[in-house]
This record gives sequence, structure tokens and C-alpha cells, in this order.
Amino acid sequence: MNISENLNKISAALPKNVKLLVATKSRSVSEIEQVLACEQTLIGENYVQEAEKKFVLIGKRATWHLIGHLQKNKVKKAARIFDLVETLDSLELAALLDREAAKLNKIIDVLIEVNSGCEANKNGVLPENVLAFVEAVAVFKNLRLRGLMTMGPALPPKQLIPFFKLTYELFQQIKNSHQGLKNWDLLSMGMSDSYLAAIEQGANLVRLGTVIFGPR
Ligand SMILES: *Cc1c(COP(=O)(O)O)cnc(C)c1O
Repeated sequence: MNISENLNKISAALPKNVKLLVATKSRSVSEIEQVLACEQTLIGENYVQEAEKKFVLIGKRATWHLIGHLQKNKVKKAARIFDLVETLDSLELAALLDREAAKLNKIIDVLIEVNSGCEANKNGVLPENVLAFVEAVAVFKNLRLRGLMTMGPALPPKQLIPFFKLTYELFQQIKNSHQGLKNWDLLSMGMSDSYLAAIEQGANLVRLGTVIFGPR
């Protein structure tokens, strides 16, 4: 796999309004350096401890998104490292993250993770609870609500379309009804096998690993 070739090809083919996040879990710092050399600076990590090790070497040359579930006991470290948390899904977590961000005198961007498949063992806020959750999170002064993120069930890409559609509709509904949310602009949906379908359904942030680096 030629990382820069893959990246340049994929990013050139994306619609102008779609941001590319490079999912770097299990990838080495030297692989990430190759990404940065292509002027792609938006990276996503799943685990706080893994991100911490990489952050020491890469620091603010990248913009860091947390794309894995955040555990309560990792919030303090996460607040230091991440510019944006894509997986906010509980009020308790929001309160903890807001408090740590305040201590750091920092505003942390957040997306709400939607459990768009209403799956019992999955993280994320159920679609029916997203509106109330948005309103509850909007009061935290050190969190900036930017939009929604979803994974959808583990299904072939075509079968994910209804879940992307549902999340897009929620995203638009909130955009229209909550005009006080001045920074409501990000809809993170789609991975290597599903990003084209996700973009068709309105995603403007896609999270790609395998198509850039090869299989993990
Ligand atoms: C790993 C991961 C990705 C990237 O997955 P690929 O299939 O390798 O593109 C995207 N989003 C999340 C939340 C991930 O954990």
C-alpha cells in the first residue's frame, strides 16, 4: 500500500464539502507522518492511551478526533489530547468532559454518537433521545456542539443507507429547529467500505483507515 498515493487519490475524488478524517488506530507514528506529509492533518484515534503515546510525538501538527468510546476514567487525558470527541453519548460523560475542558481553559468540540440501529449492545444515543440530549449538552460552556456521528450496524454498505438517512434527517431537523446552535455543521458517517454511500446520504465527514493504509 502506498499511503500518499491512496490518500491523494481518495481526497481528490471527495466532494469539496466533505472532510477526510484518517482513522489511525493501530497505525504507527511513521505511517501517520506520511499522512501529515500529504497535508492531511485530521486524524482519528479510538483509544486514549494509544493516542497519548502518539500525541507526544505528533502534538498539534494534527487535529485529533476521538472516534472510539470514551471511558469515564480517561476523560482527563482525553481532554488534553483531543480537539473533538465524536462519541459523546451520556450526560455524565458530557459533564466530566466539560469540567476537564474548563480546567484546561479549552473548548472541546463534540459530536453526539447516534445508535442509529437501536442496537442493544452498542454505544450511542437512541434516535428518539437525540433531541433532548442535544438540548442538555448545549448548556455546557466548555463543549461546542458540532453535529452527529454514527457507525450503523455491521452490515454491507448498501444496507446501511437507512441508518445514514435517519441520522441525516436528525441532523437537519436539529439544524432547522435549533438555530442557536451556531456551530452545528458536522455529520460524521462512513468508513472505508461505506463512505461513498454515506456521502450520498449527506455525510460531510468520513472516517477512513483501511482504504488508505491497507488491512489492519
Ligand atoms: C476504525 C474505524 C474507522 C475506520 O475504519 P476502516 O474500515 O478501516 O476505514 C472509522 N470509524 C471508526 C469509529 C473506527 O473505529
